[in-house]
Amino acid sequence: MTQTGTAIEVDHLIVGAGFGGLCAAIKLDEAGERDFVVVEKDSDVGGTWHINTYPGAECDVPSQLYSFSFALNPDWSKVYSPQQEIWEYTKRVATEAGILDRCVLDTAVDHATWDDAQQRWIVTTTHVRTGEERTYAARTVVSASGGLSEPSLPDIDGIDSFAGEVFHSARWDHDVDLRGKRVAVIGTGASAIQLVPEVAKIAGRVDVYQRTPNWIIPRNERRFTSLEKTLFRYVPGAQRAVRAGVYATLEARVPAFVRFPVAMKAVEAQGKKNIAKGISDPALRAAVTPQYRAGCKRILVSNKWYPALDRDNVELVTDGIAKVTAGGIVDSTGTEREIDVLVIATGFHVTDAPIAQHVTGREGRTLAAVWDETGMRAYKGTAIHGFPNLFQIVGPNTALGHSSMIFIIESQVRYVVDAARTMRQQGLAAIEPTAEAQERWTTAVLERMRKTVWTTGGCASWYLDKFGNNVTLWPGQTFTFRRHLSRFDPTSYDVTALTDAVDTTTATEAVSA
Ligand code: NAP
Repeated sequence: MTQTGTAIEVDHLIVGAGFGGLCAAIKLDEAGERDFVVVEKDSDVGGTWHINTYPGAECDVPSQLYSFSFALNPDWSKVYSPQQEIWEYTKRVATEAGILDRCVLDTAVDHATWDDAQQRWIVTTTHVRTGEERTYAARTVVSASGGLSEPSLPDIDGIDSFAGEVFHSARWDHDVDLRGKRVAVIGTGASAIQLVPEVAKIAGRVDVYQRTPNWIIPRNERRFTSLEKTLFRYVPGAQRAVRAGVYATLEARVPAFVRFPVAMKAVEAQGKKNIAKGISDPALRAAVTPQYRAGCKRILVSNKWYPALDRDNVELVTDGIAKVTAGGIVDSTGTEREIDVLVIATGFHVTDAPIAQHVTGREGRTLAAVWDETGMRAYKGTAIHGFPNLFQIVGPNTALGHSSMIFIIESQVRYVVDAARTMRQQGLAAIEPTAEAQERWTTAVLERMRKTVWTTGGCASWYLDKFGNNVTLWPGQTFTFRRHLSRFDPTSYDVTALTDAVDTTTATEAVSA
């Protein structure tokens, strides 16, 4: 890191200290690319697992697969890890890797602008508490700000006039005592199905506002025995073998998502059984039974959700919300239910990636403006035409509905590290995927989407953008994604050599020079 004028020069600036940012930092460090900072707006590392502290927050991907491949954890307590354990895991891994000294916490990225003359990203940041401003001049930016980090708030008439306590599931207000209170929860997605059962145990009453039911299958929940943990710790290969088994089981589900959605009937049967087991009232059973193919929206896992809805102090409201008043919620039939606390569990901004507003590329346009016209697009989900030396971790069409995002993150980070190595070896100042390469990739991905359950399943989901395209999920096996990103491929890029003149040549010319 060097201070030149008002800017701090770094090789790599990583945005976000969640799984994506930490992985990038650790792997760049290992590759000898040690001149980096990780800028994190939160007060600690851990990303989503530090921020989402709502009651009942747990991972819905099995813990054996929800860790870095290079830092297995023999001490996971349960088959599905609780939030606190995952957060502590990220902190421990970052500490042991020795990269915490380069994490700049409590600091938000205001803007990142590509400077063609300097062949660097000029990144301005502000400390969220002191207001101190800094400017970095970075060779590359690795954007790992998370696909599900910016709460999406519902645009409901009168919501600002509510006089009680109100907060989003991802910004849980632990100062609000819910004991005996009348609580409303808007939304019935992955977050709501975890928090409602916990809130219902202590609240006086909970009104759950459901717009669309989800398919929810049983959760194979149990604690690991001490014998298992001992085996994981001391028997070489034991934990990796279990992990491989979990990985293979989840990958076996991919064909049903991408090619043969009719196979999802088996999941629907599981979901219906789960409903029958948890709910006794036929009308309530009908109200929670989805009318679209399983998998079209994220398949959820819970043993607690249906029994929670069956409680006397919980009411499922399926009539739409007409408005919010100072004291309650009025549904579309005109019924007003008074409440003390409003919990908003309506998900996140996804297809309108919030970070894109803060990034301006080579032609002076923000990424948000470009993507607003075309939909989110990136070559291999990672690099973007018009935005040199920018790598998007969890970029377009990299998310999963069936397995661990950490696998995808590690695949992308390998690619980024190989790109950094190539740039150093070839003496390149800038790399940028060609428009043709990006178009080819995007067309192939969208073509593969046509038969998937996300397109044909008969639902509206947050996977789809305003053009109706699924720009969120990877339509295939995760090992195929990894193979595509196994090596940085300069022939798909325009590259600029490290000379004073800004001279863009094709990769083939530069590499063969
Ligand atoms: P979500 O799955 O997007 O669910 C949002 C819910 O709010 C949906 O039920 C949605 O209904 C409803 N909603 C949205 N806008 C509304 C409005 N204006 N009026 C009424 N209802 C509205 O959000 P989430 O539950 O926070 O989960 C998001 C993602 O985060 C998950 O899919 C998962 O990838 C991740 N996550 C993972 C875990 C885990 O691993 N344990 C836990 C939580 C979250 P519609 O369905 O009708 O749109």
